[in-house]
Amino acid sequence: MPNLNIVICPGCGSEISVVNHGCPKCGYENNEDGRLLTLAEMLERPSYPDPGAMRLNDVCPAFIKAVVAATQAD
Ligand SMILES: [Zn+2]
Repeated sequence: MPNLNIVICPGCGSEISVVNHGCPKCGYENNEDGRLLTLAEMLERPSYPDPGAMRLNDVCPAFIKAVVAATQAD
């Protein structure tokens, strides 16, 4: 089963602690929640233009690669 209860930084693609105050490697922050969310939490969030949409600024290809890898992990 894929483990989506991990935090991948959208800014640099690094896996970081679930308990975080932003990415310690590149400084990426989520000012609305105060921490970077797990992949599972992100998937629950609405997208623009829905109300309460989560915004992800400057998402890098490494993040997308890491997400795909996470979904394919056993
Ligand atoms: Zn980062």
